[in-house]
Amino acid sequence: MSTLQPAGHLYIHIPFCRSRCHYCSFPSVAVQAVPEKAYLAALEAEFKYHLKGWPQASLPLGTLYFGGGTPSLLSPSFYLRIIDLLAGRLGFYHDPEITLEANPADISQEKIIGYRSAGINRISLGVQTFAPEGLQLLGRRHDGLMVERAVDLLRKGGFDNLSLDLIYAWPGQSRIDLIKDLQKLAVLAPEHVSAYSLSLEPGTSLAKDVASGVLRAPSEDTQVEMAGLLEEGLGEVGLYRYEVSNFACKEHFRAQHNLAYWHLEDYLGLGAGACGGWRCRKEEHHWAERYCNIHDPFAYMQRFGQMNALPSSEAGSAEFWQELWFEKEIIDRKTSFVESLMMGLRIRQGVSLADLRVEYGSQTVDAVILQARKLRTAGLVDWDDCNLWITDKGLLLSDTILDHLL
Ligand code: SF4
Repeated sequence: MSTLQPAGHLYIHIPFCRSRCHYCSFPSVAVQAVPEKAYLAALEAEFKYHLKGWPQASLPLGTLYFGGGTPSLLSPSFYLRIIDLLAGRLGFYHDPEITLEANPADISQEKIIGYRSAGINRISLGVQTFAPEGLQLLGRRHDGLMVERAVDLLRKGGFDNLSLDLIYAWPGQSRIDLIKDLQKLAVLAPEHVSAYSLSLEPGTSLAKDVASGVLRAPSEDTQVEMAGLLEEGLGEVGLYRYEVSNFACKEHFRAQHNLAYWHLEDYLGLGAGACGGWRCRKEEHHWAERYCNIHDPFAYMQRFGQMNALPSSEAGSAEFWQELWFEKEIIDRKTSFVESLMMGLRIRQGVSLADLRVEYGSQTVDAVILQARKLRTAGLVDWDDCNLWITDKGLLLSDTILDHLL
């Protein structure tokens, strides 16, 4: 649902890393060697079976995203095979966005040439911070010099759409540390930045150290102050905030794949730990569906390894899929509306009221606008004929605003 042209969106999860970062709760396992061949075969099998039920199977892909895990551990030939398969079965729009997440430590000239010729045209580089003590605390396996070298090689290799990931408000980070990160980042001149304040995920070693008092997380006030410094620092070098945590130098460089998520467009997810979702609009109580695959890549590979040996009736059965899905949700129309509003309001230009009216009816939208009047008087939200958005003043109160709107 958006003003973007109708296109398919596909996410492929690469659940392998060289080592585990101290803050990470993403589905991935640490391996010395990635079983590329077996994982590729499993992805191909999953893709083949999704094609039967995926509503977007007739649309060419507008965006493709390889996330992880650490996709840059894998060889260019792995990506060439997948992209060729997708080009043959779905096709791509002219100039699709094809992103690969990379660790600066993995970047080599050879890989860059291979990724580029496979069709990858956007790299999202996990920088997180340039401070050695910060990188050590987060458990990253690269240093600041590797980031500079990686960006240099990527530019020379023809990548003109780079996104750098930053983490701020890690235990012990000072305002000066953050300013230094922003200065170094400015020199690298990325087209896009994703910046997240460190989230202490339960079960991670960093969360345990904070809970036991070994480390101290910055106060909420410091986090708010750092968020302000970040927006100011990135703004000074021409990167404007277009979503709560994302900044781009031009509209063209906004992350098209992520915009599809925020517009709650349909997307397919392949791989261990991947999620996908779409609107099926069957009935009020069955408006959309969402699934998440099992996290364990070895169980995933085993499952799909078996698939080719099974008769197709058995491989396509509900029981087969139930074992693969870690979660499958049926979403009713009201919940789908709440999610659309919540995701759409993350974008600075706001949620499209016209799209909401088409999908959920004018009455539902008018009720929200009625609630929004008080918030507009307080300067927290605003709207025009097209969109409803949260103002700069309202940004830090997003959750409360949403509660008031519903
Ligand atoms: S590289 Fe990414 S996915 Fe892998 S452990 Fe670190 S944060 Fe998690």
